[in-house]
Amino acid sequence: MSSHPHSFGRYCMLCGQRLASAIPGGDTKRRLVCMDCGFIHYVNPRPVAATIPMRADGRILLARRAIEPRRGTWVFPGGYMDAGETAEEAAIRETLEEAHLEVRDLSLLGVYTRTGPGVVVIVYRAIAVGEAEAGDETSEIAWFRPGEIPWEQLAFDSTEMALRDYVLWRLRSAAGESF
Ligand SMILES: [Zn+2]
Repeated sequence: MSSHPHSFGRYCMLCGQRLASAIPGGDTKRRLVCMDCGFIHYVNPRPVAATIPMRADGRILLARRAIEPRRGTWVFPGGYMDAGETAEEAAIRETLEEAHLEVRDLSLLGVYTRTGPGVVVIVYRAIAVGEAEAGDETSEIAWFRPGEIPWEQLAFDSTEMALRDYVLWRLRSAAGESF
């Protein structure tokens, strides 16, 4: 997750004129509107795809961020989807890039959104294949048991929300509950 999701220009991407904040006809919200050609610049959240890689011994992989925002905190591998790939493909690619780890058998854990951050975080549980190694945006990777998750040093609200769901899922699985 590198560039800020809300970084957009102050000029029209079609005609280059300045944008103004206005409520377009038929709309109810303020938008960035080109006063010259009328083009409306909608600002939409961007999808982020991520995996929680699981090892046969029950540990999950977290990576310590080497870049801002939230440098030094822990997060599972993930990043912005590219055009031309599915969410699953993006999650697998990001896991390879950030942790040099191959994953398979993805299963949706949850979708995490808040009104503030302009992202939709799609998190999959995944089976880890082989060994992991820190990628360029990562200073360190480590495998955690559910009881060892560093709750006070997690990167984002979505990280905590997803890991709580993950731990709950593990407890339910262990209890043999079907859902
Ligand atoms: Zn324009």
